[in-house]
Amino acid sequence: TRQIVLASRPHGAPTPEDFRLETVDVPALEDGQVLVANDVMSVDPYMRGRMDDVKSYVPPFQIDDPLDGGAVGTVVDSRSDDVPVGTRVLHQLGWREHAVVEAERVQAVDTRDVPDSAYLGVLGMPGLTAYVGLTKIAQFQPGDTVFVSGAAGAVGSAVGQIAKALGAERVIGSAGSAEKVERLNELGFDAAFDYKSGNVRQMLQEAAPEGIDVYFDNVGGDHLEAAIGALTVGGRVAMCGAVSQYNATEAAPGPRNLVQAVGKRLRLQGFIVADHLDVTEEWLGQAVGWLQDGTLRFDETVREGLENAPQAFIDLLEGGNTGKMVIRLR
Ligand code: NDP
Repeated sequence: TRQIVLASRPHGAPTPEDFRLETVDVPALEDGQVLVANDVMSVDPYMRGRMDDVKSYVPPFQIDDPLDGGAVGTVVDSRSDDVPVGTRVLHQLGWREHAVVEAERVQAVDTRDVPDSAYLGVLGMPGLTAYVGLTKIAQFQPGDTVFVSGAAGAVGSAVGQIAKALGAERVIGSAGSAEKVERLNELGFDAAFDYKSGNVRQMLQEAAPEGIDVYFDNVGGDHLEAAIGALTVGGRVAMCGAVSQYNATEAAPGPRNLVQAVGKRLRLQGFIVADHLDVTEEWLGQAVGWLQDGTLRFDETVREGLENAPQAFIDLLEGGNTGKMVIRLR
C-alpha cells in the first residue's frame, strides 16, 4: 500500500520535493483495530502549520513519517465487534491508501443521502468551524451584516449561507477570482468581490456602505484591516484563520488601524474548532435539513489519486479550489 511522508519542512510555500510517496506493507491488525481502505481524503490549510517544527495546538508532523488528516474509508478487515467489515468510517489517518486504526477512533458515517466526502467538508470539521465561528464566537444575531473572507472555500462558503439562513441583513464575501465571485452570487451572497482586482478596503466599503457587524476572518492581513475599518460599534470578529500568511517567511505586520477597536468597542476572538465539538449535534441538526431543502449547498474540488495529494495541498494554499479540496483514492 502507499502513503505520503514529509520529506522536508517547507520554507515558504511547500513544493513537491517536500513530500515523498512510499510503498509499505500493511501492518497486521491487533485486537481492537480495524483496517480501513481510504476512499477519500482531505487536505486542509492547518496542515501547513504542522509542517513547521513549532509548538502549536496540534503537534508538528515529523520528517519521514506519514502525514495525517481527515479521511473517509471502508473497513476491509476488523478485529473489533463494534466496527464490522463494510462499515464506512471517518477517521484521522489520511495521506495513505490503507490505515490501521483503533476502532474507538473511527466514526461511522451514513453515506446514503450525501457523498462520503461531505464528512470532510460541510458535515465535518469545516462545516462545524463555520457554524461555531459565526454563532458562538462572533455571536451572530439576525439582522447583522456579515463579511466573510475566503468565501468560496469550504469554511467561508458555509459561513455565508448559514448567515443568510439565520436571518442576516446582508452577507458579503471576498474570494480570489471572478469565477469564485460569480459562484458566491449564485450561493445567495448579497455582494461579493475579487480581492485581487483592487483595494480590499475600497471594495468592502462599496459592498457594505452601512458598515458590517460581523467579520469572519479566514485570511488576515489587508482583509482584517479593511474589516476593522468597516465594523460598526460593538462589531465582532471571529478569528478563524489567516491563510494569506501561512506560507510567509516573516511575521506580517498587524492591522494598522487596530486602535479603532477601542472607540468602536470591538471584540476580536480567536477559536479552534476542536474546543467546540459539543456543538456538533446542534450544527448537524440544522445542516442536514438545510442540505435537504437546498438552503445550504456545497462545492468540491476533487483530485484523483494519492500521488496527486501533495499538489492538491500546494494548490489549496494558492486558491486552486472552489469549495472543499478532496482527493479521491478509490
Ligand atoms: P479553503 O477551502 O478556504 O481553502 C483555502 C483558500 O484560501 C483558497 O481557496 C484561497 O482562495 C484562499 N487564499 C489563499 N491565499 C490567500 C490570500 N493570500 N489571501 C486571501 N485568500 C487566500 O480552506 P478552509 O475552508 O479549509 O479553511 C479556511 C480558513 O479557515 C483557513 O484560514 C483555515 O486555516 C481556517 N480554519 C480554522 C479552523 C479553526 O479551528 N480555527 C478550522 C478549519 C479551518 P482564493 O482563491 O479566494 O484566494
